[in-house]
Amino acid sequence: MTIVPRVTARVPAKLNLQLAVGPRRADGYHGLVTVFHAVSLFDEVTAECAAQDGVTVTGEGADRVPADQDNLALRAVTALRAAVGGAARAPAVHISITKRIPVAAGLAGGSADAAGALVACNELWHSGLDQQQLGAVAAKVGSDVTFALIGGTAVGRGRGERLTPALAPATAYHWVLAFADGHLSTPEVYAMLDRQRAAGAKAGAKGSHPEPTLDAPLMTALRSGDPTRVGRALSNDLQPAAVAMFPALRKTLAAGLELGALGALVSGSGPTCAFLASNADRALGLAVSLSGAGVCRSVARVTGPVPGTLILPDPKTAK
Ligand code: ATP
Repeated sequence: MTIVPRVTARVPAKLNLQLAVGPRRADGYHGLVTVFHAVSLFDEVTAECAAQDGVTVTGEGADRVPADQDNLALRAVTALRAAVGGAARAPAVHISITKRIPVAAGLAGGSADAAGALVACNELWHSGLDQQQLGAVAAKVGSDVTFALIGGTAVGRGRGERLTPALAPATAYHWVLAFADGHLSTPEVYAMLDRQRAAGAKAGAKGSHPEPTLDAPLMTALRSGDPTRVGRALSNDLQPAAVAMFPALRKTLAAGLELGALGALVSGSGPTCAFLASNADRALGLAVSLSGAGVCRSVARVTGPVPGTLILPDPKTAK
């Protein structure tokens, strides 16, 4: 019997506790300062030897995920192969993705899958890249991929790929995620933000938007480990654009706050909304009430921060 080597990695979704967006740069990107926070909603990515590269996607929103070279996990395979010296050292793989992170929901599921593919293939091919080397490959694949490797809570700069872990007490924060009945495209949300800012400038609001800076009250709140203070300090510059494109989110956010959330925000480019609760019991109550209020498609309770990409034991070989 042939033993087919396979490696499975578990990858987390992310929230942005702060997302400060600078002006649009000449290269089309926006400079960011963001506070990433990995939460306990995971995809699984398995890499195994195959005759040719390929990808299969199952689970939540799988029909919206490309099953070809456009899949971010396969792009990561190609980037890692180039970094480790080509096909002789990095033979063909099949990637199987089990999705639980909703697609195009502002939770960076595609980037997480790319990080999973990097870690799984690094192991499968015995490439031996360390965390920093994998991070350099990750940054080429996408801005959020580097964070999905390290997880925890971290400050991201540049396009989000220049990371500094945030030193904070080991507090577990209890979140309720409200998944929307619909999707938002990240580039379209940024384009809406540009239009809103241009319209604001014409109407006499301050002309050019300042370079983004790290929010000191949020960092102080994180250092205190006090969820009430963290809840008050959450912010997302993309939220007005996401709400303009998906007006139902206004109701979702208001409902969560009325039901006692310590803070609420749209996650990244949306449309998922994240609500912070003071403890696990409150999170359960909030999840039940939000679900009953009919202001979202479904809810999930998660905690953060959680570690980044981890290799799971193979159930076929684990004793
Ligand atoms: P972004 O990471 O761009 O901010 P997001 O977090 O809102 O976006 P993702 O779930 O990462 O959303 O999906 C963004 C787009 O990436 C989708 O349109 C999807 O088709 C594409 N995509 C490519 N590969 C994947 C993947 N493995 N999983 C999910 N989406 C993928």
